[in-house]
Amino acid sequence: MNRPARLVLLGHPVAHSLSPRIHNAALRAASIPLEYVALDILPSQLRATLRTLRAEGAAGNITIPHKQSVFDICDHVTNVAERAGAVNTFWVQDGELIGDNTDVAGFDFAARELMLSARAEMPKCVALIGAGGAAAAAATAIHDWDDAELVIWSRDLKRAETLAQRFAHARAEADLSSAVKGADLVVNATPMGMSDDQLPVPIALLPGKCAVLDLVYRHGETAWVRAARDAGRAASDGLPMLVEQAARSFRRWLGVEPNREVMWGAVG
Ligand code: NAP
Repeated sequence: MNRPARLVLLGHPVAHSLSPRIHNAALRAASIPLEYVALDILPSQLRATLRTLRAEGAAGNITIPHKQSVFDICDHVTNVAERAGAVNTFWVQDGELIGDNTDVAGFDFAARELMLSARAEMPKCVALIGAGGAAAAAATAIHDWDDAELVIWSRDLKRAETLAQRFAHARAEADLSSAVKGADLVVNATPMGMSDDQLPVPIALLPGKCAVLDLVYRHGETAWVRAARDAGRAASDGLPMLVEQAARSFRRWLGVEPNREVMWGAVG
């Protein structure tokens, strides 16, 4: 595989993203003369932008809200992207646009770390809040966890139902308190808390012993993670998933393992 001509992140908005810091630190540490650049791309500009990037032989990441659209635009997708129905990583091979999903492995890594830190078994019942691209990646990973039950809540019930239909042991739930009841892991896969202190699930609704995994990250952690920890739950924000998915994308594009400590140093 040839080295990409350039590395980009496509999203809207993208200004908040830590991915450029993570990747540029790892590129410098590996002495690779490329710069990873975030591009704010409106949905209406997505197809034309990908056409140009394909012609240039670029590679990169896809973030909110384009992951499902890019899945439809790619010429080929990997098996894991097919299962997730979403693409967060792309590159060009023999003139074709290839899509992959490293969020799945990133989520799996973050959830395992969290359960380990809580000295708890892997979850038997997971409540997933949100039904977009990140939720699809989480559902794909959870599907591989020994028959764990997955309950999906979304403000748009139809979207939760559509996602749940694709996975065995998954169901949609219209009522938030019923969705989290009995869960041993509660996951936020919405942007709630990204730019405010909104709690995706009120702390009073969380089961006594559940762990809390917020896929959102921000400086000083999210209000939900802090409140859950104050209430005695093991909790993590989205940084472990972010760094792990980035490391796996880096290896896909460049064929070398990045230095994860350097990646963590860039966001610490
Ligand atoms: P997405 O595809 O646009 O999906 C967003 C989901 O959240 C949809 O179900 C949407 O519902 C729901 N939602 C949006 N605003 C909401 C609100 N105010 N209240 C309730 N539900 C709301 O986005 P995504 O790519 O899944 O990303 C979701 C979040 O995960 C983002 O904050 C992103 O930064 C984070 N993320 C983190 C990582 C990581 O590595 N840590 C990786 C991926 C994503 P509707 O359909 O009704 O709009």
